[in-house]
Amino acid sequence: MKVYKFGGASVRNADGVRNLHAIIEGESELFVVVSAMGKTTNALERVFEAVRNGDAERCRCEIDECRAYHQTIVSELFSEGYRVKRADEFFDDLCRYISENRYDEQRAEEWYDRIVAYGELVSTSIVSEYLGSKGIANCWLDMRECFVTQPRHKDADVSIATSAPLLRQRIAAADARIFVGQGFIGSTPDGHTTTLGREGSDYSAAVAANIIDAESMTVWKDVDGILNADPRIFRDAYKIDELNYVDTIELAYSGAQIIHPKTIKPLQNKNIPLHVRPFGDKTARGTVIDGTAPTVCTPIIILKRNQSLLTLRSRDLSFVLEEKFPVVFSTLERFRIKCNLIHNTAIALSLCVEESWHLEQAARALQGEGFDTEIADNIELLTIHHCKGADIDRYMGDAENILISQTTPDTIRVVRLR
Ligand code: ASP
Ligand code: MG
Repeated sequence: MKVYKFGGASVRNADGVRNLHAIIEGESELFVVVSAMGKTTNALERVFEAVRNGDAERCRCEIDECRAYHQTIVSELFSEGYRVKRADEFFDDLCRYISENRYDEQRAEEWYDRIVAYGELVSTSIVSEYLGSKGIANCWLDMRECFVTQPRHKDADVSIATSAPLLRQRIAAADARIFVGQGFIGSTPDGHTTTLGREGSDYSAAVAANIIDAESMTVWKDVDGILNADPRIFRDAYKIDELNYVDTIELAYSGAQIIHPKTIKPLQNKNIPLHVRPFGDKTARGTVIDGTAPTVCTPIIILKRNQSLLTLRSRDLSFVLEEKFPVVFSTLERFRIKCNLIHNTAIALSLCVEESWHLEQAARALQGEGFDTEIADNIELLTIHHCKGADIDRYMGDAENILISQTTPDTIRVVRLR
């Protein structure tokens, strides 16, 4: 069996869903993983924010808009006024959950997961019904019943050992050989919905591929394959034909939005090749990622936005170094703050971290551990691999915006003000 993953951009409208059908037509055994349609996850994040702020009116408007957006796609795919019952039920369920439960800030992440998961539940309901209407018998799977994760809301990892028998059972029990499941979601052992991190559908597809021993996994995207830079930021970006797993993890970690960083390990463990192919051209090869591709040596430029710079200084001028590292990093982990670059001097430690709701809280906790803390916002992290001389200068930007720069023989990483 193969695994195909379709991201939000590829199913953002009726044409996208028709194109998905055209791509899978003719396949006999397939596990299809689908993200939420278009910008639905962002819309559901706004629903969550409205709930969090106690703004019932705003919440209702956001949900209505989201429902209408999906209904437009449904009407175009089927006929005016046609309803996908399962999708309607999910929206009803979302409204009911919000009105019948009291928001609890202590459980913000759990609420977030419960709300944003509907994007994928609705999109897969529509896609599955549409494929069925086109004569493709398929089995819709509720991935919350197949993927067991740890109770780490908003950024959970799937336990492959626990999930494997569940997913395999469902596949064995179905008559159809085409499966449609949600990316991005799972649930804790006691049944609470979890999400796997923004853009986590790639990871879902990789976990499914690992469990079913897929022959390959393909991510269908709105780009030609994996490019050496983000074409929206760097105009002369070009496609890389082949990559190995290790280089891909490095690229994803540096912030290349090609693939979720957690995607590679489940594939690498079973040596499953990953194809990144353009949604618009079924015949193009895209990029292949596997264990045998040579190391890339073309310039690669990655800009990671939405960063903050947290600087810690020890109050008594004692060294911030080794003995204090555990407390610093366990505090960041406790508040689930991702650290992307570390820079230290004798008495200061600077951390380029992902923007987070909890950064202020984490800083206060670290003050309690004897540090002075400082937070700078509006930060971005630029990573340049395999680049020389004048080329580097082109990407560096204004010198006065650079706060930290780290250089190794083939990589430069720069923390700068946006
Ligand atoms: N829908 C989720 C997101 O937008 C997951 C994904 O697209 O991979 O982040
Ligand atoms: Mg996406």
